[in-house]
Amino acid sequence: SVRVRFCPSPTGNPHVGLVRTALFNWAFARHHGGTLVFRIEDTDAARDSEESYEQLLDAMRWLGLDWDEGPEVGGPHAPYRQSQRMDRYQEVAAQLLERGHAYKCYCTTEELDARREAARAAGKPSGYDGQCRELTEEQVAAYEGEGRTPIVRFRMPDEPITFTDLVRGELTFTPENVPDFGIVRANGAPLYTLVNPVDDALMEITHVLRGEDLLSSTPRQIALYRALAEIGVGNGSIPQFGHLPYVMGEGNKKLSKRDPQSSLNLYRERGFLREGLLNYLSLLGWSLSADQDIFTMDEMVAAFDIKDVNANPARFDLKKCEAINADHIRRLDVKAFTEACEPWLRAPHANWLPESFDQAAWEAIAPHAQTRLTVLSDITANVDFLFLDEPVEDEASWQKAMKEGSDALLRTAREKLAACDWTAEALKAAVVAAGEEHGLKLGKAQAPVRVAVTGRTVGLPLFESLEVLGRERTLARVDAALA
Ligand code: GLU
Repeated sequence: SVRVRFCPSPTGNPHVGLVRTALFNWAFARHHGGTLVFRIEDTDAARDSEESYEQLLDAMRWLGLDWDEGPEVGGPHAPYRQSQRMDRYQEVAAQLLERGHAYKCYCTTEELDARREAARAAGKPSGYDGQCRELTEEQVAAYEGEGRTPIVRFRMPDEPITFTDLVRGELTFTPENVPDFGIVRANGAPLYTLVNPVDDALMEITHVLRGEDLLSSTPRQIALYRALAEIGVGNGSIPQFGHLPYVMGEGNKKLSKRDPQSSLNLYRERGFLREGLLNYLSLLGWSLSADQDIFTMDEMVAAFDIKDVNANPARFDLKKCEAINADHIRRLDVKAFTEACEPWLRAPHANWLPESFDQAAWEAIAPHAQTRLTVLSDITANVDFLFLDEPVEDEASWQKAMKEGSDALLRTAREKLAACDWTAEALKAAVVAAGEEHGLKLGKAQAPVRVAVTGRTVGLPLFESLEVLGRERTLARVDAALA
């Protein structure tokens, strides 16, 4: 059965590239009724942090990307944090050494650099040159005598490595392009190059779906899986690989972790729905069908086939991401929408006192907001006029809407509003009539009314807003604007 893994390193904040990888692995596992292993690759003590680990778990939970084995849920291959599996890696490294799949390399960094430079200058491949591949006992003794501490280096086979990538088809890497590589540091710390395939083998991973940036390490890993199979680590089968396309950001450069658009926290803070964000991220390299951009995660899982993933780079488009999120907001039932908005109706987001929050007014205005929001955090500015004693003071809006003649218009509008039925329809008719008296179309006539009452030039449909706010408060605000 299918076993895939999501195996981030806990460094920094979760970003959208990482989420896309998690999502595709999750969808693949769920589609095949398989197992998603969540593994934490925290072997780099200098860069990993507990805070980042917590954020990863929190992100996966928020996204609803549930895992079958991993931190907190456990599983047959526990522990799932590599920092807790060091003994195994040492053992495997010792076995690889013993069986000649790896060797001790005594070259110093300076020596390696100098030889690399020379190879480059001579136009030769500049990877490791195999100097320590066949050391005699005397040479080893001499190096040890000098006090050198070796790293462990994996011995690459001398023939090309070919594999069929699930996204890119058949790929071949020749030995010149894949030199022997380090798997254990001089201080004994195992490297990512070792622990990642060792855990894949031990955890019986069947498919490795990960970013294209890791493609160059795949031939090395395949050679390592073969060696592991030979020494009996894991069940001897080698996973299939699928490399997900690059995600390009601004200026057609690869979206980087440092790009503000790539931070998952930003999307959470702005109030993206998980389904909206995941829907958009799934389109980075995949599509449900040519004519359907909006879908649920259930629909994605039902349709997901790794063979449909496109090898071409995908472009990250924030506007499209927002538009898709807006669509998902419209799809909620009103109750789910009002509940989803709740965090933004309270401190620290909301700028009104808890006691001035009015549930009935909120429920009356919510349907009008639901058809207009792009992200949930926008709700605060759209409804604050209902809950603040006085509308927000926004100098720019005031300047824009209050022109010469606005006072006269407001006075007429006030008279008509005071006299009319308090329904959106009647309120509109009143402002239309006021505008006509001053030779103004509705758009121009309603702008000063909107600013007087809500404090802003843009917002929810004005007449529905006034209806919910009520006659008394509306008229008081128009009076205050005229005073
Ligand atoms: N820990 C690796 C990373 O975050 C995982 C690479 C892989 O999926 O094999 O880049």
